Amino acid sequence: MRKLAAGNWKMNGTSADIPQLEALANDHHAASVDVVICGPATLLTRMAATGLSVGGEDCHPAPSGAHTGDISAPMLADAGATHVITGHSERRTDHGETDADVTAKTTAGWAANLHVILCIGETEAQYRAGDTLDVLTTQMDGSIPDAATAQNTTIAYEPVWAIGTGLTPTPQEIADVHAALRAYLTDRFGDEGAQMRLLYGGSVKASNAADIFALDNVDGALVGGASLKAADFSPIVTAL
Ligand code: 13P
Repeated sequence: MRKLAAGNWKMNGTSADIPQLEALANDHHAASVDVVICGPATLLTRMAATGLSVGGEDCHPAPSGAHTGDISAPMLADAGATHVITGHSERRTDHGETDADVTAKTTAGWAANLHVILCIGETEAQYRAGDTLDVLTTQMDGSIPDAATAQNTTIAYEPVWAIGTGLTPTPQEIADVHAALRAYLTDRFGDEGAQMRLLYGGSVKASNAADIFALDNVDGALVGGASLKAADFSPIVTAL
């Protein structure tokens, strides 16, 4: 499978950031891995014009309607997006999104021909209690629709306590979790699950990317802070 270096700009980025995205697009247009930047809806059209693959950071389950301030999956696609993130822990926390919401948003993303990067991850308390795999299994049971395929979905494992903290699980912990995720996906989705990309996310940076990418069942990364500047993201793409 082709590996994926995905950036998530979160609530960052203005038109002043477009030139460095053009540089990123130039540097990696012939990359042997997929590069996607998920950015704010306000910038998607301009981001897509750089030639990079771009994605939304969330979508509403409905294609249109009376939902002030929300963005639908067809609107993301219309703006040039090919991907959308669902289930990010910041959405789950800031907006109370449930697994059922994530299922609905994921289905909506597919209906608009978007490839969905579906996020799961345990909190620090759950990690300390040794509940990581139980939490992830519950999230996958509840949030990955049955129609998921390797073509339409990528799973991103993002321990909540590793996001933006500079902390990461040990390489062995990441390898163990990803092996368990692969076993779950293969058990539930057969060959599709065996081929579905599994990203790691949480404090990935140039200095730890190569070690993380060397692990079995790590098919790329979902990168927050270190995706904001091309100079930080480029070495991560190269490490993949
Ligand atoms: P950081 O890379 O800033 O830790 O963020 C990870 C993340 O949440 C990507 O979706």
